[in-house]
Amino acid sequence: MRKLLILLTLLVAAPLNAQEDDAGIDWAAEQPHWAAPFEPFNIIGNLYYVGTEGLAVYLIAGEDGHALIDGGLPGHEQLIIDNIAALGFDIKDVKYLLNTHAHFDHSGGLAALKEASGAELWASEGDVSALEGGFYLGSEDKPEYAAPPVKVDRVLRDRASDFGGAVISMTGGEPGKPFLLTALTPGHSRGCTSFRLFIDDDREHLEALIFCSATVAANRLVASDEGPAQYEGIVDDYRLTFEKTRDWTPDIFLANHSEVFGLKDARERQVAGNRRAFLNRGAFQKYILEKKNAFEKALAEQSGAADGE
Ligand SMILES: [Zn+2]
Repeated sequence: MRKLLILLTLLVAAPLNAQEDDAGIDWAAEQPHWAAPFEPFNIIGNLYYVGTEGLAVYLIAGEDGHALIDGGLPGHEQLIIDNIAALGFDIKDVKYLLNTHAHFDHSGGLAALKEASGAELWASEGDVSALEGGFYLGSEDKPEYAAPPVKVDRVLRDRASDFGGAVISMTGGEPGKPFLLTALTPGHSRGCTSFRLFIDDDREHLEALIFCSATVAANRLVASDEGPAQYEGIVDDYRLTFEKTRDWTPDIFLANHSEVFGLKDARERQVAGNRRAFLNRGAFQKYILEKKNAFEKALAEQSGAADGE
């Protein structure tokens, strides 16, 4: 009898394990901070943090509807929905769903969030195929990089333009000034998109930047034994982004990985009474210069490896 029970247990357990293997990596176990809850809060003005400890998700509250930037890991969207509700907002009032880039750790929850909100998804042209196909461009064969496919409703096309490529009209900020602007900052992904917001705080006009990313990470910059470059034109794209961002000096620099702008420390300072704890003038230029140097180093290394040196 006991043997039979053990056998039954094994039979039941086997398919579950197989499923986990198919998915490749359990990211919540691999990177626990990506899935760990974080108490949602108001950053400044009508900008709110509704992400997890490691993966930022931003809510921009507008009188006529809200914008939500990014969707976190696949299967973890309920945390975001709960965070929005905890702040007193309704997911159904989210009108615009936006994405910094089509990699599973930032786009994985978008399909479910779109379903829950009924919002339109706006995304830049370079990332549409990856969002709608549910893959990491250039690594389509890697199931661990997959995300639930999600339909893009409006395509942002202006590749060359600086901020002002697309304007999302929302109430808030300085009267007469557009409130939320997008700029394409490609390289890390082909459609990597950054956002600029204007916030009136205590009669001062502050500029916040939610930057996509400029890390090389898992990207193949050149063709090698590992395969072709991640996508055609990737090196030129990174350089375009470094050139474009040379004079960007936001008052508040934010990103989609919370350690980039020191979420925990800044939040602690804010809780302790510093209501401008997220002001970090100069931080973006420091960040982008580091990333530029790291990119050139990675490019030299990958080119050297490709030449067999
Ligand atoms: Zn990424």
